[in-house]
Amino acid sequence: MTNDGPRFRFAPSPTGFFHVGGARTALFNWALARRLGGRFVLRIEDTDEARNRPEWTQGIIDALGWLGIGAESETFEGPYFQSQFAQAHLDAAQRLYESGRAYYCDLTPDQVAERAAARGGSGYDGYSRDRALGPAPGRVLRFRIPEEPIVVEDAVRGRVEFDPTHLDDFVLLRGNGSPMFLLANVVDDISMGITHVLRAEEHLPNTPKQQVLFQALGHAAPHWAHVPVLVNEQRKKLSKRRDKVALEQYRSEGYLADAMINYLMTLGWSPGDVEIVDWETIVDRFRVEDVNPSPAFFDVKKLSAFNGEYLRAMTTAEFVAACEPWLREPVAPWDPDLFDETVFGAVAPYVQVRAVTLAEVAPMVAFLFCADDAVDVDDASWTKAFTPDGARDVFLDAIASYEACEWTTEVLKSTLESVGAEHGLKLGKAQAPVRVAVTGSGVGLPLFESLEALGRERTLARMRAVMSRVLSDPVL
Ligand code: GLU
Repeated sequence: MTNDGPRFRFAPSPTGFFHVGGARTALFNWALARRLGGRFVLRIEDTDEARNRPEWTQGIIDALGWLGIGAESETFEGPYFQSQFAQAHLDAAQRLYESGRAYYCDLTPDQVAERAAARGGSGYDGYSRDRALGPAPGRVLRFRIPEEPIVVEDAVRGRVEFDPTHLDDFVLLRGNGSPMFLLANVVDDISMGITHVLRAEEHLPNTPKQQVLFQALGHAAPHWAHVPVLVNEQRKKLSKRRDKVALEQYRSEGYLADAMINYLMTLGWSPGDVEIVDWETIVDRFRVEDVNPSPAFFDVKKLSAFNGEYLRAMTTAEFVAACEPWLREPVAPWDPDLFDETVFGAVAPYVQVRAVTLAEVAPMVAFLFCADDAVDVDDASWTKAFTPDGARDVFLDAIASYEACEWTTEVLKSTLESVGAEHGLKLGKAQAPVRVAVTGSGVGLPLFESLEALGRERTLARMRAVMSRVLSDPVL
């Protein structure tokens, strides 16, 4: 804690894949900490032993690193692990008990529920408030909620007033003596000098309780900001059962970190007249007060559009470099010995303008990196390409012409145009058999550019490889 600037924190629980909503919360904190010259403290809230797993913790750290949030920056501090501070949580509970702000209660959860049912209400009724019970196994420690309304000033929601009659005397320590989330979270925020708590809206109901807990422990509450949830197309909260929510999955599908960062930052916040902006602009403009309090639609189509824009904004060299991990084992769908960097480099500009994600790149170019006698032609494309009158003759003549013509995109195209014209076929129909024979499919990258990249020998080898099929196909 060497600087005096504002201290933000991100406090995920490592109980599952790192969620895009968590990534957005982290980025909001990061953007503010960067702009204000403060710190971003990463605290892993790992006290739920039954649900935590070390790989989830590593997943969080890796995912944050991918988003540019990590120890290389002096803004970053941590990670801390909540489990290391158990003694501080217990000490704070003891202080609250000794000062009368907390009391022990021996009711079991069933008894609490029975009493609630008997009075036709819900929750805990303060039964042990004045019973002066001491600590004992099985007794929980409860916080004495004050009588007056609790007002939370929230940077996104504004002023939120909570009626204390709706807030139970919540549990600080379980019957087995272990600290509850509300306590541990506040004690850690205090000891880490946190000045700003920006987190998911689902924690808003906890905030009045935590605010009075800060005060009872002799500390001013931090500035609060609760950011709205992310919803899917049906306006339902994103859920891991229904929706694709794991940041890691987007990463492995070839979304770029910069596009993801830019997109997540624009969920519920707008950087201005244009949405695609660089990180410096985001840091410069982001104000949590400007975050829209309504739920934000996580629109995968829009994210894809952002990603496509980011891909197209790269130079070809940058694009080729970004593709590299997707062109290697174990991801690439070809025998590595057949991969040819030069061929890929030649078609890369055409791939770049078409791909939405990097994972789409290898399937688009896979036809270039198979053995020439092993192009897998699907029957429907074959029939469609070769059935028109004249298509077969165009194909046979094209082989002869391609044996001798100059091997450039323009000449390959004009040659096929003339061959087609001789047999009464326009270029679209004339090129179809060549495309199918060479690429295996009726659609794909621009054909003549692909042929140029593949070279004369390999193109002709592929065309000749289907000759017997052309000559023997009874339908043609
Ligand atoms: N560990 C809590 C969670 O993951 C976060 C608590 C907080 O940000 O205050 O939901």
